[in-house]
Amino acid sequence: MTDAKLATLPVAPPPALKPAVEPSALAHRELLGGEFWRRIPAYANVGTDEFLDHKWQAKHSITNIQKLLATLSGLVSEGFITDAQRGFERAPMSVRVSPYLLSLIDWQNPNEDPLRLQFIPLGSRLLPDHPRLDLDSLHERVDMPVPGLTHRYVDKALFLALDTCPVYCRFCTRSYAVGIDTEEVEKFQLKVNAERWEKTFAYIRSRPELEDIVISGGDAYQLRAEQITQIGEALLSIDHVRRMRYATKGLAVMPQKVLTDDAWLDALTGVVEKGRKLHKEVVIHTHFNHPREITEITKAALDRICERGITVRNQTVLQRRVNDSVATMTMLVRRLGYVNVHPYYIYMHDLVKGVEDLRTTLETGLDLEKGIRGSTAGFNTPTVVVDAPGGGGKRDAHSYEHYDRTTGVSAYTAPAVHPGELYYYFDPIDLLPAAGQARWADPAEHPRMVEEARQAALAGRRGLRE
Ligand code: SF4
Repeated sequence: MTDAKLATLPVAPPPALKPAVEPSALAHRELLGGEFWRRIPAYANVGTDEFLDHKWQAKHSITNIQKLLATLSGLVSEGFITDAQRGFERAPMSVRVSPYLLSLIDWQNPNEDPLRLQFIPLGSRLLPDHPRLDLDSLHERVDMPVPGLTHRYVDKALFLALDTCPVYCRFCTRSYAVGIDTEEVEKFQLKVNAERWEKTFAYIRSRPELEDIVISGGDAYQLRAEQITQIGEALLSIDHVRRMRYATKGLAVMPQKVLTDDAWLDALTGVVEKGRKLHKEVVIHTHFNHPREITEITKAALDRICERGITVRNQTVLQRRVNDSVATMTMLVRRLGYVNVHPYYIYMHDLVKGVEDLRTTLETGLDLEKGIRGSTAGFNTPTVVVDAPGGGGKRDAHSYEHYDRTTGVSAYTAPAVHPGELYYYFDPIDLLPAAGQARWADPAEHPRMVEEARQAALAGRRGLRE
């Protein structure tokens, strides 16, 4: 037999060391496709071209409660609508939901839907805020040398270029600034402003230690193409800036922009390519929280980004009933990997006003990390972090100095940021054992519990040194 004929014969696979996985184990590759949005009566006559047009998505995004409730009318019960109205009355965030996002919610079961939970509050589910909550819990404003520029870590700064987003999320850490005022919160304004931006660039220029700049907001999706270029070129022209990240939730809530806003994607690609020529890294950081947020439309958008050689990393917020099970988080991690997004961080939910029902315990985060690790390659496995309230910055969740599961108080140090300081994270009270809940019911106990955590953390550190 000739070599050419041999090459066409089927080759038997080598003997299996382990059985092939069941198709159900590959469910992370099954993405929602087709014209799923037509299930919503308001979008029943919207064709594919229209639905994929980012301008149509932006124009039809719902920005007030009445419109939202009118779109849902007929889909949900009167009771649900009244409950949502009460929820928005007490919310720190204004309303903004894209038609794409609205179409992904299971309106047969809106009460438990993990996507609805993140964007539409229900008055009946809200819990009292934790007594230790503070509106700017990360103290971003304390570390701002210029309004909208947080310089906390030695080599990194966070530039809040503007204060609008393609959607408004209930859990937003920056509810002190993002979106318009609500009945609950008067916002710290961070509008696009040439003078503020120039001051920001001047500050970064004056600080040679700054190598890493996050461009966020608000959301980089809301920057016009020429603004993406302006910021990118200003920062790339500073010698000591080596790394830049454009932060956007847009990929998770309006992937259509990447498919149809060529000017925006070309501007971003231009900055990435210019950075590459200067040997500097420019990437996207995004924010998926649930595997159902990734559809065939998302994959098409991320394929386009991949073709342009742009790295995308993801930061997830751990939320109760949204993504707090090993099965859901593993599915999210594997699906992110499948669409070429690196699952970088899982954040313990910050102490944010009006969303105590979404927070969960540190113990849940620690257990999740154990459950996920090993399900895929290490570089695609997220690190669980606590952004230490009070300005301690991100700490590996496992690195606590002390954690009392009864009071829910954990203590962290941040030697590279503020040596000698202790920072405390607090589990939601309703998830604590009865003894812990009883102590939080008595305000006199609050400082005692923190002091106990402080003493235990200091004793632990002394023990380590001895
Ligand atoms: S997109 Fe980001 S910044 Fe905007 S509301 Fe959501 S979490 Fe906050």
